[in-house]
Amino acid sequence: MIPLAVPNLAGRESEYLQECINSTYVSSVGPFVSRFEEMVAQAAGAKHAVATSAGTTALHVALLAVGVSRDDLVIAPSFTFVASVAAIAHCGASPWLFDIVEDGWTIDVAMVKSCLEAETARAEDGQLIHCPTGRRVAAILPVFTLGIPADMSALVRIAQQYRLPIIADAAAALGAVYKGQTSGNLGADFTVYSFNGNKTVTAGGGGVAVSNDEDRAKLLRHLSTTARVGSDYDHDMVGYNYRMTNLQAAIGCAQMENLEVFLTAKRRISDRYNKGLCTISGVSAFPTPNYAKSACWFSGVVLAGHSRHQLDDLRVRLRQRGIEARSFWKPSHHQSPYSNSPKTQMSVTERIWPHILTLPCSTSLSDADQRYIIDCVKLELADV
Ligand SMILES: *Cc1c(COP(=O)(O)O)cnc(C)c1O
Repeated sequence: MIPLAVPNLAGRESEYLQECINSTYVSSVGPFVSRFEEMVAQAAGAKHAVATSAGTTALHVALLAVGVSRDDLVIAPSFTFVASVAAIAHCGASPWLFDIVEDGWTIDVAMVKSCLEAETARAEDGQLIHCPTGRRVAAILPVFTLGIPADMSALVRIAQQYRLPIIADAAAALGAVYKGQTSGNLGADFTVYSFNGNKTVTAGGGGVAVSNDEDRAKLLRHLSTTARVGSDYDHDMVGYNYRMTNLQAAIGCAQMENLEVFLTAKRRISDRYNKGLCTISGVSAFPTPNYAKSACWFSGVVLAGHSRHQLDDLRVRLRQRGIEARSFWKPSHHQSPYSNSPKTQMSVTERIWPHILTLPCSTSLSDADQRYIIDCVKLELADV
């Protein structure tokens, strides 16, 4: 079976893990954690980084650190992995779900602007209120879908105008470039990366939140480490045990040493699928907006003319040929916990999401295997 996306552990992972065991630093204190934070901060182009147990937990404490609280609304795209909206719910808040743009599958920034204009008002105490629900709008959470940054310069202007903090969910976007800038330096208050097993760079599991604001980064670290003050079991806030262990960071450090190699492999795989498949009528590539260089986390194609049923059929046939292919994120407004959240019309989201087919894209995928996949997709597409 050619899997969809598996970790590539050909670097110094086992050597570093052995170091953890020899030194007994296997838990949440240890030299690899700080080293990993420095490596991620540098790759992201940000001043400060805090490692956490997962991308989801980093998003949660990042939202808390900018003041998101119970009953607030956080602007987010509906088309995302459920962790983005779950982190909002973990704060007791709800997402205000937005459609995406065709060119990048990221939040529709023009729609954010027009909805803020049309549907919010400033209360006497200065809070921004969403008039239809009476709830406070507390933050904006763009998602860097597939490794493509949202249109951040436009979004940052709107956020400044409305005094809203931005938490960027860049879970799979380490290595992405936006208008020549690295992804952790695009004006968000926090930018969050995931190091889950299916991401380009993994730590087994884990997350990192980066920021250029030292005080905010310190607050996030405080929240993620039980909000402890001093060493006598004093805690001044409701904190969380969201620390990354030295074991995870050891793998993460070894992986980060190969970031550029991995990114090159990911981009090449994506290129080859585009060249091999997108000449077929009805088959199109994942988006590549002019303003950004995607980190190409996932590869695949969009089959606009095929129904969801046909896509299921195609996936079964590919599986029979030893190829794992999958559908992609079901939008948040179709998930029961978020089905009552306020939302915009979703025409682009609805048009795109049922037609996405993801294909194997591990950085270790061989050229021969990829040729075989392309041939099989062509063959089966003619039949479904
Ligand atoms: C992977 C992912 C997350 C969650 O990260 P975990 O480390 O698995 O908690 C959040 N958002 C997006 C867009 C992701 O792709």
